[in-house]
Amino acid sequence: MAHSEEQALRVNGRVVRQGDQEAQPELATAHDDRVRPLCMCQRDGVAMYIARIPDPDGGMRYVVKRMPDTGPLHAPQCASYVPPPGISGFGQLLGTAISEGPDGRTALRLGFPMDMLDWAAPTPTAMVDPSGSVQADPSRLTLRAVLHYLWHEAGLASWTPAMAGKRNWRVVSWHLRQAAQGMYLRSRPLTDRLFVPEPFQAERKAEITARRLAAWAPAQTSGAHGRKLMMLVGEVKAIEAARYGRQLVIKHLPDAPFMLDDRLHVRLTWRFAAELDLWQSDPDGHLIAISTFAVGRGGLATVEEISLVTVDRHWLPYETEADRMLVELAVEQRRRFTKSLRCNLTDGLPIASLTLTDTTVATAAFVLAEATQVPEAEDAAAAAGLDAWIWALGSPIPRLPDRSRVTATPDGADRGAVVYRRRQLRASL
Ligand SMILES: [Zn+2]
Repeated sequence: MAHSEEQALRVNGRVVRQGDQEAQPELATAHDDRVRPLCMCQRDGVAMYIARIPDPDGGMRYVVKRMPDTGPLHAPQCASYVPPPGISGFGQLLGTAISEGPDGRTALRLGFPMDMLDWAAPTPTAMVDPSGSVQADPSRLTLRAVLHYLWHEAGLASWTPAMAGKRNWRVVSWHLRQAAQGMYLRSRPLTDRLFVPEPFQAERKAEITARRLAAWAPAQTSGAHGRKLMMLVGEVKAIEAARYGRQLVIKHLPDAPFMLDDRLHVRLTWRFAAELDLWQSDPDGHLIAISTFAVGRGGLATVEEISLVTVDRHWLPYETEADRMLVELAVEQRRRFTKSLRCNLTDGLPIASLTLTDTTVATAAFVLAEATQVPEAEDAAAAAGLDAWIWALGSPIPRLPDRSRVTATPDGADRGAVVYRRRQLRASL
């Protein structure tokens, strides 16, 4: 979880940083002694726990996680903060669709199948992510909500001026894979089924293809409910005509297009017309696909269900042109902020566009289609303990609130406390 690497934690009276490799022995001891670290984003600290989760390299890693139901207790600028309902779509999912267990495992309940009965014809209503067109069941994640959750946990929804120019697919895909560690579908790791293409390099084509085939192997087997499906997260390069029907071409996967049947293609272009338009109108932006897919005996992948999310050139998700404009303005003015993500919530239901975390009191910034939504937004911000900044479309964009003179960083380092420095240079996001 990239944005949490700087997170200051007090463990046994010492201050350590979440992403610090040198803090690992300290965390291991505290884990064994059942010591509760405190997140220093608040004066009195917020209790957390230490999870031992598998490392992508095969080892084990100690990661400090928030306790269930404590997301809103952290400071808005803290990586462990979860905005309450009315600010983002997360609040309603925690504890239901997303269960953060005390063992460090996060269980995801999906609202779409990860198996396919061989004999069953796919039902047309199940093919396109329902979020947006109907109110999705808050106890189960839509595809879009899975992507939003991964994006948030990977730190990709948060921004500081230092991140400018540092994000690309190599960085983004690495953090997405890291974020997926510790997430489970029933009792199985999400990473068994999640495929995030690695950056393509022509000179390493054979080994990259071999790794992809190994990753796709589960799709050649059957589970209790039928043939297993895989989940893809990747950047769309094109949706184009194939020899038969249409295909989805993903960047960094030049040799593995995903087949789209005609019916799905029609529904896709209808349901995601806005996203496809925004993608067309933003040559520097990216279109991210999350989909479930089956793999045929010949190795050809076919999309079962799909959702699309637009991100700008900084890989920050946005929903509308006004939303993108606000993000661009905040980036230009070198602000710190966290983008709100809608998850399961219906499009059009007001949530904050982003939360500025560099104001004295963090500020929820709303872009509202109707002036009548203003009181609701003000109430949501007040309930969350945030200031509100509101741009009602049709009126000129108001000036963003001033930055606090003391930059609020979740830094609890005291004089005399041991502060470990990061030795391992990670791509800083
Ligand atoms: Zn915190």
